Amino acid sequence: MCGIIGIYGNPEAATLAYLGLYAQQHRGQEGAGIVTLDGATVHRHMGQGLVSDVYPDQSALNGLEGNVAIGHTRYSTTGGIDRKNVGPLLFNVEDQPVSIAHNGNLVNLAAKRRELQKQGAIFQTTTDTEIIIHLMARAKGARLVDRVATALEQVEGAFSLLILTPEGLIAARDPYGWRPFAIGKLKDTWVLASETCALDLIGAQELRDVQPGEVLLIDDQGLQTVHQLPQRTAKHCVFEYVYFSRPDSRIFGSNVDKLRRKIGKTLADEAPAPTADIVISVPDSSNTATLGYADRSGIRHEIGLIRNHYVGRSFIRPEQKLRDLTVKLKFSTVKGVLEGKEVVIVDDSIVRGTTMRTLARLLRQAGVKKVHVRITSPPIRFPCHFGLDFPTDKELVAAHRTKEEVQAYLGVDSLEYLSLEGLLASMDLPGDQFCSACFSGKYPIALEESNSKDRFEMEFQDSEVIPDPAL
Ligand code: AMP
Repeated sequence: MCGIIGIYGNPEAATLAYLGLYAQQHRGQEGAGIVTLDGATVHRHMGQGLVSDVYPDQSALNGLEGNVAIGHTRYSTTGGIDRKNVGPLLFNVEDQPVSIAHNGNLVNLAAKRRELQKQGAIFQTTTDTEIIIHLMARAKGARLVDRVATALEQVEGAFSLLILTPEGLIAARDPYGWRPFAIGKLKDTWVLASETCALDLIGAQELRDVQPGEVLLIDDQGLQTVHQLPQRTAKHCVFEYVYFSRPDSRIFGSNVDKLRRKIGKTLADEAPAPTADIVISVPDSSNTATLGYADRSGIRHEIGLIRNHYVGRSFIRPEQKLRDLTVKLKFSTVKGVLEGKEVVIVDDSIVRGTTMRTLARLLRQAGVKKVHVRITSPPIRFPCHFGLDFPTDKELVAAHRTKEEVQAYLGVDSLEYLSLEGLLASMDLPGDQFCSACFSGKYPIALEESNSKDRFEMEFQDSEVIPDPAL
């Protein structure tokens, strides 16, 4: 997952992009970058870490001149946590600067990458995104936007894309519309962002979404749809509503806050906890759904957990031992609220189980009598190949365990998940317009090859092994 922002036609383009990255920090915390275009000259400032690490003060933005900018916050789903993979990526195509920011994840491309390498392509990164640039560079067409469209016809998977070129700002979205992508305007300035919360911060008015399969160009003539990729039934990521997007955003045509509350209400109908005294959320991602649960169940909503906002998402920590510690660093209990109570704790999802297992221990230490866990999504049993960093099924706690076994692993008194039917029924759009493969295993695109996050690193290392003649 990642957050992207594009600005066209503003002398403060870099500053607006920077604000857009701040609003979308939740979509990626591994790295951030901005590329601007000033006539034919390109400027870039990027680095690893949070937006505030990469742009600690105004001086980091000083050199980013130009009326056009794209920005990217990175959360890796292909290619390691490595400086070379931080977006926006920047290339020269026939002596013209071309920069690309991508939210999503491409699949079935390892063979294509090998083929391109055999033809002489020299890859600079281990991302999936770079393949689009190599395909574009080889494609025929009068304008770069035509060549981008030809390249996109050859790739599969999830992409919301911004491509900055001297011919204008190109935006494209895969035919399934997997990831959100909004277009807005601030007077004469075009603003494109993964989530509308970025438009709101900048003060831009939301106009519409980049449509699934649409390839558009913004230049001095305005916005024009240049190509339409082959139509498919939409497969929006339902997990964007469950967890990923901010509640103040509007994605896929609906307000996240509204649907998240509805999800909480449906869960209260499906999985009541009649003997509980209070309901608490795991802040911040399940706050909104918990309001829905409390409202529908009539159980008093309390704030029983306090989140330390200065610790990154525990999920992202690489080693298990560290991860346990980060959960404890991140959450503390309000003993006065919890002591002697039977508590419903609502969270949006269980991935490895680390968060809930540790929280259950913390709640007991705070004197909670009984812990009832209610999850606003079905069990996650399958990895995501389209832009969420869900681990392999070996690490997913629900992949090979029954609900009772997960409950025992968490050490809680009851555990209930929202059903897939209940989740999809809570949406405004029909259920068949969502990808819910992480719950069902039904992937809209069949995987023809491994899609591990480090697949290109592995290939790279394999091809790097040069036999030592001394051995
Ligand atoms: P875990 O501790 O591995 O069970 O992770 C569950 C927690 O991670 C939940 O509280 C979620 O809010 C959060 N989460 C769920 N999916 C993701 C994701 N793809 N990336 C980062 N965090 C996530």
